[in-house]
Amino acid sequence: MPDLVCDACGNTYPAGDRQHCDCGETLWYELATDFAWPAESGSLWAYGDLLPASDPVGIERAAGGTPLVRAPRLDDYAGCRIRVKDESANPTGSFKDRGTAVATAALRERGADAIGTVSHGNMAMSTAAHAASAGMDAVVLVPDDIPEERLGHIARYDPELYAVSGDYGRLYEASFSLAPTFVNSDSPLRVAGQKTTVAELLHQFDGAPDAVVVPVSSGGHASGTWKAVRELHAAGALDSVPELHFVQAAACDPIARAYRNGDDTVTPVADGGGETVAYSIANANPPSGNRVLRAARDTGGSVLSVDDDAIRDAQRALATHAGLAVEAASATSLAAVRELTAEGRLDASDDVAVVATGTGFRERPPTPDTVHRVTQGELREQF
Ligand SMILES: *Cc1c(COP(=O)(O)O)cnc(C)c1O
Ligand SMILES: [Zn+2]
Repeated sequence: MPDLVCDACGNTYPAGDRQHCDCGETLWYELATDFAWPAESGSLWAYGDLLPASDPVGIERAAGGTPLVRAPRLDDYAGCRIRVKDESANPTGSFKDRGTAVATAALRERGADAIGTVSHGNMAMSTAAHAASAGMDAVVLVPDDIPEERLGHIARYDPELYAVSGDYGRLYEASFSLAPTFVNSDSPLRVAGQKTTVAELLHQFDGAPDAVVVPVSSGGHASGTWKAVRELHAAGALDSVPELHFVQAAACDPIARAYRNGDDTVTPVADGGGETVAYSIANANPPSGNRVLRAARDTGGSVLSVDDDAIRDAQRALATHAGLAVEAASATSLAAVRELTAEGRLDASDDVAVVATGTGFRERPPTPDTVHRVTQGELREQF
């Protein structure tokens, strides 16, 4: 097993259940620098050299292997050459399955028969589904204001499900002292699995595009993105490093605010943040926020925020110009590209990959205003 390392202060700990450094930062796994691109990549397990687990079962085997879709009809909208990494193709419809698959496999290798998580939705579904598939127990804690339909999607996999009142950030921290092992959004095992989104993307692109854009909430996926780029570059598998741009919803954007202010640490949003259509990424106190700032600055990228109008507009464009139904939180990445090209940070000849983190099929679609309601007789007159 590889060591756990703190990228903020450099402390190293032996692999195990420990998740945080004495300095407070979340640890990540330091993998061997030996890496060769696999011949095929049908699932994330093709990138086994990057992972702290190796023996998947059930739906764990199906995580990853998602398409990188070239979407030329979005180029004008975005202002550059667009590709979409479509994470809706995962077993429960979001990239969360990558981290969950690696975490449940790794926990079983350590003899565990249960897993816990704290989540707003997608991670809870993913964790409950993977536990069901592997015959493990799942303990899922959600905030008690979670939308009812999300609760239904989680409950169908029959985890031990608690809707908990009170401050979400404190619940997140308290969960680490409960049993079983809680694998939350920036836990080391989860981040290790989430490295494979960008590893796959770089493999599919055959090198580094000019920029990769990722929606951010806790900062776990962003951490995995940065870690993968670092490991692949260090191993000589990647000649250049893409700019990593991270995006939040303007109503709740503590990391983007810190970035704009030139701060090294993120200050939580005092009132918990405002409402946004991008519910999955509204995190007022992101546990890996500081690391996201380091990732953006280290790669020449940025952290920005986009408002709900821009998010809805980008979500519509992804459907009408690329045939992709993504959830609002995921459309933030395309909205961010539009902003970056408008500012001249990216230009028309740049190849940019946006990560569409989750499916839109679980969201209520906008009310359609383009339906022609006709009789069968009237239909003929239309053509
Ligand atoms: C969880 C989630 C994110 C944010 O990921 P973090 O690792 O928490 O930063 C983005 N989009 C979707 C759809 C998600 O479910
Ligand atoms: Zn530390």
